[in-house]
Amino acid sequence: MNIVIGGFSHETNTFNPRRTTLERIMRDGVYLHGDEVVKYFSKTRTAMGGIIAGGRELGLRVTPTFFAYHGPSTGLIDREVVEHCTQELVNGVRLAQPDGVLLHLHGAAAADGISDPEAFILAAVRNVVGVKVPLIVVYDMHANIGPSWAMMADAIIGFKTAPHTDMFECGFAGVALMKRTLANEVKPLVRLSKPPILIKSGLMSMTDAPLALIKPPMFWLVSRAREFMKLPNVLDVSVAAGFGDADVPEAGMTILATTNGDAVLAERIVSELSALAISLRRGFETDLVLTPVELAVSRAIDAPHWPVILADQGNNTAGGSPGDGTAILVALKNAGWPDAALFICDADAAKEACIGGVGSQFFGSIGAKLDTSSGKAVHIDGIVRLLFDGKMRDDHFDIPLQLGATAVVRCGQTDIILTERPCTTQIHPNVFRQVGIEPTQRRILVLQSAHLFRDEFDVKHHIPRMIIDVDSPGVTNPNARRFAYQFVKRPIFPLDEI
Ligand SMILES: [Zn+2]
Repeated sequence: MNIVIGGFSHETNTFNPRRTTLERIMRDGVYLHGDEVVKYFSKTRTAMGGIIAGGRELGLRVTPTFFAYHGPSTGLIDREVVEHCTQELVNGVRLAQPDGVLLHLHGAAAADGISDPEAFILAAVRNVVGVKVPLIVVYDMHANIGPSWAMMADAIIGFKTAPHTDMFECGFAGVALMKRTLANEVKPLVRLSKPPILIKSGLMSMTDAPLALIKPPMFWLVSRAREFMKLPNVLDVSVAAGFGDADVPEAGMTILATTNGDAVLAERIVSELSALAISLRRGFETDLVLTPVELAVSRAIDAPHWPVILADQGNNTAGGSPGDGTAILVALKNAGWPDAALFICDADAAKEACIGGVGSQFFGSIGAKLDTSSGKAVHIDGIVRLLFDGKMRDDHFDIPLQLGATAVVRCGQTDIILTERPCTTQIHPNVFRQVGIEPTQRRILVLQSAHLFRDEFDVKHHIPRMIIDVDSPGVTNPNARRFAYQFVKRPIFPLDEI
């Protein structure tokens, strides 16, 4: 039995003005053909890593075709990118003549003129393989899933954790289901429902972390989904939180149930979970959980125990921010540069600091060039402490990172890590260690992350003594009411009463 694997992954924040081009994907992202896919993802804890490992362990012949990925720090995708990547996948599928197709599609892509690129890909692949070849999709929990997915795919399996810790397991589950399907043990069928709820990045957490005071609505939704998964004939139940940072008609939550040929059961599950989501919707309100910037910084400075993590909600580089917001930087400067460490993406400043060299004085304005809604450029005057080529490892996903020219500039007791490209995964404490900063020894750690950091920093490594979700401006601020949506299907909570 021959299974074709491949995928396409971009989480598109349409409020980010920087386009996602093919050139950017090839330069800064991941662009792989054939065996390169296996080489890159083998032994990683990603969905593709799970798919590859699953194929090996379950004895299925896996034919890798094509995989393209770009970090979520860029906005709307050029239409030609989607057309090109679809063609690459379709070519691979056609050549392999597979018994089954297993794709990892993130699910939150948005392109110029193609609001649901994954649906575009699925339709093209289905068109090539016909109706009899099983097509299974593994997607990210932050997906905006269009209704047509369920018509194209036989099974749709999503991550069940945020921060994501089960990507590998979901990839593996996709292969296991494919094996059972090809052996005629099961005949999967998927149904979906879209409760009218739009959530932005910081509110999608479902973690039951030590420092979480209350369990978020996603926790209860996923818990109920897990109960449904124990029923006979249920193959998978997933809750896609959605990605409210993309202004597309498909934006919003999706409930999916894959059963063994039982449409009635699948419909019942998705309608019950949709009703539960609607009843829990007020739990996604932002006002209670966000702290204004100045107050957050002063609380962090006065905190009796540290480190304190300031989660920079408006500049979440894993949710579409280019990572150059300055609101917290300004507050640190106003506070006299306390003991703190933070990343700021500024290509010009990073290169200039690199030219100056270690020990030189850096003098200039930094930040707020890419996302102009996230603050104003800030003048700093500091000393270059460290230079770095930006070749890092993300120890959570176990993949390489390329930040380009990187310089650590110290102002007072604040270390500013200037990078040429956005650091999209500030979710593992080693991200600081790789630039010579020991996170356990700092008073304030500013993370351009909404919640993905909680797994490594909090649950696994117990680093923060306090976490403050900061109401910073920028394209990833979680309050959807502050954004001018044009294309989102209305009415939808919290933009409208439902
Ligand atoms: Zn995600």
